[in-house]
Amino acid sequence: MITSQVVVYSQHGEPKDVLKTHTYEIDDANIGENEIIVKTLAAPVNPSDINQIQGVYPSKPEKTTALGTSEPSAPTGNEGLFEVIKVGNKVTNFKVGDWAVPAQVNFGTWRTHALAKDTDFLQLPNPDQSKAKGKKSGLTINQGATISVNPPTALLMLTHFVKLTPGKDWFIQNGGNSAVGKYAIQISKLLGFNSLSVIRDRPNLQELKDELNSLGATQVITEEENASRDFGATIKGWTKDTGGEIKLALNCVGGKNSTGIARKLANNGLMLTYGGMSFQPVILPTSLHIFKNITSAGFWVTQLLKDSELKTKTLNQIVEWYEDEKLKDAPAIQTKFEQGGEKQLHEVYQEAVANSSNGKQLITF
Ligand code: NDP
Repeated sequence: MITSQVVVYSQHGEPKDVLKTHTYEIDDANIGENEIIVKTLAAPVNPSDINQIQGVYPSKPEKTTALGTSEPSAPTGNEGLFEVIKVGNKVTNFKVGDWAVPAQVNFGTWRTHALAKDTDFLQLPNPDQSKAKGKKSGLTINQGATISVNPPTALLMLTHFVKLTPGKDWFIQNGGNSAVGKYAIQISKLLGFNSLSVIRDRPNLQELKDELNSLGATQVITEEENASRDFGATIKGWTKDTGGEIKLALNCVGGKNSTGIARKLANNGLMLTYGGMSFQPVILPTSLHIFKNITSAGFWVTQLLKDSELKTKTLNQIVEWYEDEKLKDAPAIQTKFEQGGEKQLHEVYQEAVANSSNGKQLITF
């Protein structure tokens, strides 16, 4: 028997009020022929996990008693990295020691172990497997545990909607220093696209610009520069120099900031909105629609990656970049959970949620 712990909630509310640890046994001696048992290596806290617990996120797991809870409960967490520790005798897509990530969201990754169907997971190479393939590097725990949301968001927004011509075309993004923004900068460089990243001014602006430049940013400007009419000529000069156009805008802020980046789009350009960090609505002047035929659309990685073929293809590309040391992950603040230690699993996650404003929190097991 394996004693498993999982963070659950039976009522929506603030994580500090509604999370509980549920402990149950997994009978590893009687595993189904198409089942696998996994142990968790790490699972992060993402903003969408918190919104899900609060009940304000459109996609959420069902509340059931399947795990033996006394009242219908939902498991928490959507992203995480697991190691396969046992496979049923008809399982062909996994062997013991493989690394795996949930094939779909809502799996409930804030847990120590899980019994699942083999189709519930997708395989990732573990570091030994990458080494055996002759790769420069194996995935780190942080890379594997955070591979399912932010890197695919950046890659798909850059490739799935608009055809940018390498060496010529540009995209513009606000929140250029966000985790997604940093992946977008790196991935656009790998694909040969030019990036124009808008960030907020700050005392250590040059330090941040240097960091984004070292990731491969083409140009980094402040919100004030982006809003200034005079600066518009400089941007036009940059695009003229490459013989391309700004065909895509990525918006995670909203409000005036989204107007600012949409104004930089060429005729027929597309703005994808994937976040709303300012809590302001997206504002688009009528003239941009009429005279420049701008399109404004939403992007939701959860919806797009329901297509498991696309998910596999996207993850494979990101794994390859990590193995070739071409992509840097966003660093996380890591806390190790000790099963049987002083703090229960839900308490560790409650603290991580409270500390989320200090940076991405990753619980390792
Ligand atoms: P991070 O926490 O890494 O970055 C947040 C960014 O937002 C920073 O650049 C920050 O800038 C900026 N920001 C915050 N508040 C404001 C404001 N009022 N005005 C201007 N800029 C602001 O975030 P992530 O990269 O993890 O996520 C970014 C957004 O994307 C989130 O809303 C997230 O939920 C969403 N997301 C959506 C996905 C989808 O499929 N739709 C997938 C993945 C993420 P500063 O440093 O100046 O504070």
